[in-house]
Amino acid sequence: MAKALVLERQKELRLRDIDLPLVPGPDEVKIRIQTVGICGSDVHYYTHGRIGPFVVERPMVLGHEAAGTVVEVGAGVRHLSVGERVCMEPGVPDPQSRASRLGLYNIDPAVTFWATPPVHGVLTPFVVHPAAYTYKLPDQVSFAEGAMVEPFAVGMQAAHKARIAPGDTAVVLGAGPIGIMVAIAALAGGCARAIVADLAQPKLDIAARYQGVVPVNIRETNLVEEVRRLTDDWGADVVFECSGASKAWETVLDLVRPGGAIVAVGLPQGPVPLDVSAATTKEARIETVFRYAHQYERAIALFASGRVDLKPLISETFPFELSVEAFDRAVEARPTDVKLQIRVAE
Ligand SMILES: [Zn+2]
Repeated sequence: MAKALVLERQKELRLRDIDLPLVPGPDEVKIRIQTVGICGSDVHYYTHGRIGPFVVERPMVLGHEAAGTVVEVGAGVRHLSVGERVCMEPGVPDPQSRASRLGLYNIDPAVTFWATPPVHGVLTPFVVHPAAYTYKLPDQVSFAEGAMVEPFAVGMQAAHKARIAPGDTAVVLGAGPIGIMVAIAALAGGCARAIVADLAQPKLDIAARYQGVVPVNIRETNLVEEVRRLTDDWGADVVFECSGASKAWETVLDLVRPGGAIVAVGLPQGPVPLDVSAATTKEARIETVFRYAHQYERAIALFASGRVDLKPLISETFPFELSVEAFDRAVEARPTDVKLQIRVAE
C-alpha cells in the first residue's frame, strides 16, 4: 500500500492509501518521486471526469510531470543506478508496434500514459517505470526543473515540427503554460522573436520576461495588423496555435507568410473552419503535435546549458499533504499562475 492523490470520481480528490506496483521488473527502475507538476489535463479530469474519449471510470492517481531519485534497478538496466536523479516520460509505447518501429512512439495507439484513464499517475512516493523512458538529470538541473521537462517537451516537439530556421519570426496564439513553453522552445530553436498573443495581460507580462518575446494583448490590438506591421506585410514564418480556441483558426492564414507553417498544438473542442483555398494559395504547411517523441534529452540539455530557464514559471510549490489544496488552487486558474508543483518528498 502507498499513499497517493486519488481522483475517486469527478470532483472528488482524496489523499489515501492505494495498492500500486512497487517492485521493478527487468528493464525497469523504482523511483522515489520528489516533485510533480500539476497539468491542465490533471485539473480537467478533476473538474470534468473526462477528456474526449478518456473517462475516469474507477479511482485513478493523478500527476504525470515528475522528477525523483532512482532507489532500485531491475535486471538488465545499464544506464541508471541507485541514487541518480531523474525525470520520466509519462508515455510508454509498445516497443514492437509499427508506430514505435517508425520512431513515432508518441502516436502508438497502444501507448499507456500516466494519469490517463485507466493508467495511474505518480502523485505518490514511489513509482516503477521502464528505464528506457527515465532520463538522468545533470547536477545543475533541480528536481523542480526536472518536473518541467514534460510540459517543455511539448514546446520542443512543436518547435521541431515547425522546422524553424535561424532568424524566423513566430506567432504564438495563447499565453497559457503551453503557449509560453512553445515560445521559449521556438526562441531556443532559432527564432529571432516570438509574438505571443493573449487576452490576459498578466500572462503576457510573464511571457514578456523572456528575451525575444513580443507580447500582444488582443483585447486592445488587432493581431493581424500588428503582425503585418512587424513583418513588413510578409507574415510570420511559423504560427503556433496554442489556445485551443476554434476562433483562432479564423485568423491563422492571415498571420502566416506565403510558404510558412501553421502548427496546431491546442486541442479545439470540435471541428474548426479552415479556408483551404487561402491555405493552398499560400502553400501553407500545416503540422500537428501530439505530446512528444525524442525531446527529453534535448530539453534537459537546454536546461543544463543555462540557455533555457523555466524556474520563473514555477508559481508556487505545495507540500504533498496539501495536494488537494494545490488542485483547488489550480482550478481557480489565476492568470498569474503558470505552473503549480507538489513536493512529494524533501
Ligand atoms: Zn502535462
